[in-house]
Amino acid sequence: MITTDILIIGAGPTGLFTVFEAGLLKLKCHLIDALPQAGGQCSELYPKKPIYDIPAYPEILAGDLTEKLLEQSKQFEPGFTLGERAETIEKQADGSFVVTTNKGTQHKAPVVAIAGGLGSFEPRKPLLENIEFYEDKGVAYMVKDPEVYRNKKVVISGGGDSALDWAIFLSDVASEVTLIHRRNEFRGALDSVDKVQELKNKGLITLITPAEVTGLIGETQLQAIEVTKAGESPVTIETDCFIPLFGLSPKLGPIAQWGLEIEKNAIKVNNALDYQTNIPGIFAIGDVNTYPGKLKLILCGFHEATLMCQAAYQIINPGKRYVLKYTTVSGIDGFDGTRKEAPKAVVKSIN
Ligand SMILES: Cc1cc2nc3c(=O)[nH]c(=O)nc-3n(C[C@H](O)[C@H](O)[C@H](O)COP(=O)(O)OP(=O)(O)OC[C@H]3O[C@@H](n4cnc5c(N)ncnc54)[C@H](O)[C@@H]3O)c2cc1C
Repeated sequence: MITTDILIIGAGPTGLFTVFEAGLLKLKCHLIDALPQAGGQCSELYPKKPIYDIPAYPEILAGDLTEKLLEQSKQFEPGFTLGERAETIEKQADGSFVVTTNKGTQHKAPVVAIAGGLGSFEPRKPLLENIEFYEDKGVAYMVKDPEVYRNKKVVISGGGDSALDWAIFLSDVASEVTLIHRRNEFRGALDSVDKVQELKNKGLITLITPAEVTGLIGETQLQAIEVTKAGESPVTIETDCFIPLFGLSPKLGPIAQWGLEIEKNAIKVNNALDYQTNIPGIFAIGDVNTYPGKLKLILCGFHEATLMCQAAYQIINPGKRYVLKYTTVSGIDGFDGTRKEAPKAVVKSIN
């Protein structure tokens, strides 16, 4: 049985930053994630995309943000159970919780912080009969590493931001990019739509609308797709890769059965106080929660994690008063023995 102070479900940016904030309060954390690596959506969905709204980073790749968060939390020695999904939770007589994964690993903690984001990542797949056969043989539902597509022929389908963004990005990497959408109008950001139009005019993106991919062709590997334009007969287009980007269907997964108050696939929390759920001792932070005015942004997850740790401290240390100290004043004592000194106060009289 793994024991810790705060058990974090989800090692996305919110979960990782929780380790740091908890560490400042001398609380230890252990993280469970269904994915084999930390970073949540940042690592799984868009590691090579730049993020522009992380305070003090004018621009940072999502993958690099994950690396920085891991580096920042390392001094507080978090434990990880990766590649395992948290399945069940049981309240113990002493008030603590035992969380068991799909592989049977058990974790015990007085506080559980659910930072499960969108839940398990389940891409919406197009209804094509043999699509599963071509998965990892030319068909992918997300772009993990754009380099995989260097000098390849790529077909993207979809009409939202992901489809537009990746069509733009890959037009510089792939030998050919074709974007197929069932409508003439796109749902993405206006400047992305304009950029696709510009790349189309330059011959760097082929746009086929209103149309749908209606068949996949290839003996052992994807070699071509069949495209049907509204009111026309199907045509065959040779391609190495087909990337349908129809979004992710948010599925809370097993957490939905834990007796928590759920609204529109998200966990309701008390945002006026500490992001606690309807079950005392279980908190929900980051994309997984909902409250009036909720914004699913990384920096909001950081803020929620910070306040949640203060409440966790009170549960773990009942009656003990915590006085907020600036790290510039207190320095940081890492659990690994490291010490980051705050500058010494200088006593100097002014005449
Ligand atoms: C293409 C794209 C671009 C984006 N751009 C920006 C941007 O520019 N700025 C910005 O602020 N935000 C952006 N976002 C949103 C941002 O990525 C999310 O707000 C952020 O990732 C939320 O972090 P999180 O840690 O709460 O959840 P997530 O990153 O979703 O991580 C949750 C983790 O929990 C795990 N998990 C879920 N259920 C379980 C379970 N039962 N057991 C074990 N593990 C579980 C998942 O595997 C996942 O790793 C973007 C999102 C996308 C898709």
